[in-house]
Amino acid sequence: MHEPSADQLSSWDRTLVWHAFTQMAEHEPLIIERAEGCVLEDIDGNEYLDGISSLWCNVHGHRHPHIDAAIRRQLDRVAHVTSLGSSNPTTIELARRLVDLSPPGLKHVFFSDDGATAVEVAVKMAFQYWQQRDDPRPQKTRYVALGEAYHGDTLGSVSVGGVERFHAMFGPLLFETLRVPAPDPYRTPTGVAPENLLQHHLDVLRDVLAQHHERIAALVIEPLVQAAAGMIVHPPGYLRGVRRLTRQYDVLLIADEVAVGFGRTGRMFACEHEGVSPDFLCLAKGLTGGYLPMAATLTTDAVWQAFLGDYAESKSFFHGHTYGGNPLGAAAALANLDLFEQEQTLAHLPAKIARLREHLERMIQLPHVGHVRQRGLIAGIELVRDKATKEPFPWAEKRGIRVCDHARTEGVLLRPLGNVIVIMPPLVIAMDQLDRIAEAVAHGIISATA
Ligand SMILES: *Cc1c(COP(=O)(O)O)cnc(C)c1O
Repeated sequence: MHEPSADQLSSWDRTLVWHAFTQMAEHEPLIIERAEGCVLEDIDGNEYLDGISSLWCNVHGHRHPHIDAAIRRQLDRVAHVTSLGSSNPTTIELARRLVDLSPPGLKHVFFSDDGATAVEVAVKMAFQYWQQRDDPRPQKTRYVALGEAYHGDTLGSVSVGGVERFHAMFGPLLFETLRVPAPDPYRTPTGVAPENLLQHHLDVLRDVLAQHHERIAALVIEPLVQAAAGMIVHPPGYLRGVRRLTRQYDVLLIADEVAVGFGRTGRMFACEHEGVSPDFLCLAKGLTGGYLPMAATLTTDAVWQAFLGDYAESKSFFHGHTYGGNPLGAAAALANLDLFEQEQTLAHLPAKIARLREHLERMIQLPHVGHVRQRGLIAGIELVRDKATKEPFPWAEKRGIRVCDHARTEGVLLRPLGNVIVIMPPLVIAMDQLDRIAEAVAHGIISATA
């Protein structure tokens, strides 16, 4: 069988493959054929530094020998076992490791295959929990979520999501969610001084919970950083405050660590920064080191207990995904966790985080950079038309895309969030690679905002 030519692949990619979040009428194929470490190579042999961890999921680099070997070993045993009633040693071991690693109180793991499904599972479990626990509260059926939240693209996770441009179209299909504004230190509500931002947002949340708690099943939050919203970094103490209020009002807390989990913020899980144990912890993206689709929803003994009973009571969780708990994914995930220990991944982060900060401090000097924000190895650089008024560039001007297009000519692959440039390399990124990414971003900004 002869292999298709580069032209043929490009043409098929334009016409046959419907890409996610992509205007196919203008789609310019970028076809990555291989990768190693933090470097991607396209079919024409061009190399790119992976500045976005293959969309926020790669951790230890591409083609890491330890993860590759773990997947190959698993392949020699079995590639897939259904999680509907049966199991396999690798997936069981992963459950054990995740329970050990995660914040205290999370004792049970439901596996699925993507971030959206991890959240979907938590949303449905929270609902069912209140219906059938010993002291049922069947009126607790609603959810609180943050403005600009992003929890994935299935209808349940879109219902708790709040990114207008992605989600408005599907409004008629969604369930109604109570919305509290995201605490955004750059775009603060009028009349709220920066030093009062935290208290202001906790007060707003308290009001909503005080008024509606009897009907609220759960609150969903992306801890510390709202990623797809544009890397909005919450003020320190917000997550802890949310946990305190949700406990006070008997509302379950769903922590969506799909983007921020697995070292991204400098700790294994973002919740650790504020000593928070949620009722549900949703994991995906970095779980397999960015190799395979796999997700996990961890929960507490209280939730688990509410689903136990005689078969005839129908208290089971009637939800599942064919590939949930897939052993190849679990093997990759275990190898990913091994590497955090073997390579001391977290111990190497502070120096990189500091270097990234230095780069951002230089970028804020550029004329159209309105705000830079960072948490761990996540950075957002917001472009504005006018720094004084914070007036945004109209999104149709594609400034963010233009910055990234320019960076690509310098061998750095990025993907913006509207007018926000994202720097989110694999945790294993080398210092000089980080410097090159930042340099390409700065050049891109100068070129795209001139
Ligand atoms: C990416 C993301 C999701 C969705 O994960 P998928 O694997 O793309 O379904 C959910 N929540 C957050 C916070 C994310 O960043």
